[in-house]
Formats: sequence, C-alpha cells, structure tokens
Amino acid sequence: GKLTVQELANKLDKSASEIIMKLMKMGTMASINQEISLEIGSLVASEYGFELVQGGSDEEELEAIEELLEIEEDREEDLVKRPPVVTVMGHVDHGKTSLLDAIRSTNVTSSEAGGITQHIGASEVMVNGEKVVFLDTPGHEAFTSMRARGAQVTDMAILVVAADDGIMPQTVEAINHAKAANVPLIVAINKIDKPGANPDRVKQELSEQGLLVEDWGGDVICVPVSALKREGIDTLLEMVLLVAEVEELKANPKKRAVGTVIEAELDKGRGPVATILVQGGTLNVGDPIVCGLASGKVRAMINSKGKRVKAATPSTAVEILGLSEVPQGGDQFVAVATDKIARNVAEKRQQMAREEMLKSNQRMSLDDFFSQMGDAEVKELNIVIKADVQGSVQAVKQSLEKLSNEEVAVRVIHGGVGAVTESDVMLAAASNAIIIGFSVRPVPGAEMLAQKESVDVRTYTIIYKAIEDVQAAMTGMLDPEY
Ligand code: GDP
Repeated sequence: GKLTVQELANKLDKSASEIIMKLMKMGTMASINQEISLEIGSLVASEYGFELVQGGSDEEELEAIEELLEIEEDREEDLVKRPPVVTVMGHVDHGKTSLLDAIRSTNVTSSEAGGITQHIGASEVMVNGEKVVFLDTPGHEAFTSMRARGAQVTDMAILVVAADDGIMPQTVEAINHAKAANVPLIVAINKIDKPGANPDRVKQELSEQGLLVEDWGGDVICVPVSALKREGIDTLLEMVLLVAEVEELKANPKKRAVGTVIEAELDKGRGPVATILVQGGTLNVGDPIVCGLASGKVRAMINSKGKRVKAATPSTAVEILGLSEVPQGGDQFVAVATDKIARNVAEKRQQMAREEMLKSNQRMSLDDFFSQMGDAEVKELNIVIKADVQGSVQAVKQSLEKLSNEEVAVRVIHGGVGAVTESDVMLAAASNAIIIGFSVRPVPGAEMLAQKESVDVRTYTIIYKAIEDVQAAMTGMLDPEY
C-alpha cells in the first residue's frame, strides 16, 4: 500500500508543506502528489503520536480516524460526581406527564415563573442543592429507540403506576425495558388522592413482577405521590438523589466532550438544532464536533432554562446550533481538535452509512445464531414472547427457558399478551433479541419496523414447533464435543 503526501497530510490534519518538511528531515524528498510507502507514512505519523493502520480498508481507516477522536482513559483523580439523568415511564394515563410537570414546578424560582421556558427535550431541577436532569419525553419508546442505536443516556427510571389502576401491560413493558437496560427503578405510586386508590394492591402486583418494595422487605424504593395535588414529589426527588448516591455517578469534565443526541430538528430560522446530553468532558461554544453523520462547530448553546451558555459540563442537556445537518436521536457526538477532523470523520461515516445501507445490517436471527455468537463462552439467546392469552405466554416462556444449558442461556426478556407491536420490536432490537409470536401477528407498523431494524419475528400456533426451532438453533450452535 502507498499513499500520497497530500493524503497523509489530510489524515494527520497537517498542511502538506509541513509533511514535506518532516520527510526532508528524514531524508526523503517528496512532492505533494508523490506516493510514499506506508512504512515512511507510519514514521511520519508516529512523530505526531498517531499510528497509521496498514491494510487500508475503509473500515480500518475509519477506525484509525475514530481512534484519533478518542481521548485517553479517564484518570481516577479527574472523575467528579455528576448529576443523575432520569426517565419517567409507565402505562398511558397513569400520570407520567403530570408527574414531570409537578417535578418541574417544584423548582421554578419566582424570577423564572413569568418567563418563557422553551422546551429543549430535557429539564433540570435542583433538589437540596443538587441537580437532577429529567428527559422530557416520557415513556419507554424514546428510551428504547435510543438504546437500539447503542446509546444509554438514563441513569435511572421512575416507574409511574396509578394507585387506582395498578399494573397494566405498558407497566410490565416499562419494567422489562428498564431491566434489559440494567437501569435502576424507583416506583412512584401515583393518584393516591383518588378515592379508589389502593397502593397495597400495586405493591402486591409489583411483587408478582419480581419487584419487592422496601416496606415489604425488598429493595425497590416506592413512593406514594399525587402529581395532581403535588404531594410526595419532594420525597420522590430525594429518593432519586439517594439512588444516584448509591450508583456513584461520575464523569471527567476535563476532556473534550462526548455525549448523545436526545432529539433534533430542522428549525426554519436557525437551521439544524439538536438537544444533546453531555456525558463526559466539557462542551464549549466554538468546539468543532462530529454528531452522528453531521459535523460542525458549536455556534451557540442554550440550556434548559432557555439561557445562552458558553460551556456545558457532564449531565447537562443543551440545545446546540451550528451542525451541517440534522442528526438522529441516539446519535453519539464527540468534540474534536479541529474542524477538519470533524468534517473528515463525518464524511467517512456518511460513506460507510451508504455502504451499510446496501448490506443488510446484522442482528440476531434464529437461523444463524451459532455463527453470530462466534466464540462466546456462554451464548445468550434473548427472546421476546407475545401470545394471545397469558397462559400461553407463561407456557412458552417456561418451555423455552428450560432449554437453557451450560453453554446456551435462553432468556425471555419480555412476555406479554397481544399482537407484536413497535415497542416489542424496539426492545428486541435494543437487546439483540428475537421475537416469538404465539397465535398472534405483528401489527403492520411493527412488521415494517422489524424489517427496517432486521429483527427476526417468528410466529407459531403450536408450542412444540417454537421449541423445536429454538432447540435446533441451539444444537446448531453448541460447540462440538470431543
Ligand atoms: P400519561 O399518559 O401517563 O402522561 O398521563 P397524564 O399525566 O396525561 O395523566 C392522565 C390523567 O390522569 C390526566 O387526566 C391527569 O389529570 C390525571 N392525573 C395525573 N396524576 C394524577 C393524580 O395524582 N391524581 C389524580 N386524581 N389524577 C391525576
């Protein structure tokens, strides 16, 4: 392999003349379009502390560039406490939106009360002098679609359960989404002001889902609240701080910023606008950044109170202006040293994305489970089960989990009654699971989404057929024994 002086200069983000000078010092005379060997190129690169990747496939080249983006491992002494980022989940009408409103209103200072608070996708509240960040879109859909894109932004979830209604299908979904993401849960039993409220029944139903609340001897924190009457909100927020304390959330503010896009849109006047969550480092106005397939320079930052800020530290959500195009929710962003690196990486990513579109993206499928799992010590097969009646969900779940052995763990990460929905597909995509529908079919939207996300959805009417297929896939993937 060879590359020209200009190409090398581009890779290193230096001027060609600087590279020519370096080469001269090393005893090599070269002009700007002249090809030099990879060995010599590597020598020059190493002078700048970089390594050239030999072989030179696009993928390797991208990796090399992405490595340039990577900032050294955080040193322990650089890590400081950061605020928790919280999502509110639960069944429809159980009071997620009302609870978020109640939380936000506990915190409005009189000077802000009259002002226009502009929605940026996340809000910050102060609890006993400490900051807590809430993502403004309630429900597990946003949470899971981000996770399907490889992003984890929430540190904990508040599960809202209406005291007069109890655990409903979306409550179970939310529990399983949080479990799959390994995110701690705090239960808010809402609507305790209502005459029909029965918190004990909720606790009973929670225990049936494997969540034993503290006053029943378990470890799940549970707070009775009324979003409507604004009761119990302070206690709930204190519990959020408590869990955050236990989780020991930390980040290094002293490096170039990294984080995730919460939401983004094209604004008529302002161009592409993205709300991002800074997860590590500090983002400054003027920083060149790569954001998914977009790049740019941070032209302005607006915080959740609608104020312009110059810097954003870990666990801060800000709206940023200055991107070349609109990124997607769940995209990662990273601040880089120069505009040129930002542009190069974004261009490379766009090229890769186009190539990726042509290939179908790989997710788990039962057919080639074995090859997909490769050399993993314990192979995991995650399954989402949907069935027409609860009895079938249980039967299929038990039969399938019983197939687990020392080498293959079959895990049913979610089971529920009803058609296969978009939410099931996103959960499967996020957890690399397959979906088994028993006497049910996907809703049309779910079918399309499954295709787009390459999620394997299988439907059966006879239980033993499902077991047979899973068993076959498992035998196919068992390591040969001698
Ligand atoms: P979401 O769908 O989970 O976001 O639920 P909403 O926040 O929209 O609430 C659904 C309905 O329940 C609304 O009519 C709210 O006024 C009502 N609601 C929410 N919280 C409470 C509460 O604490 N007490 C009572 N009585 N009603 C509530």
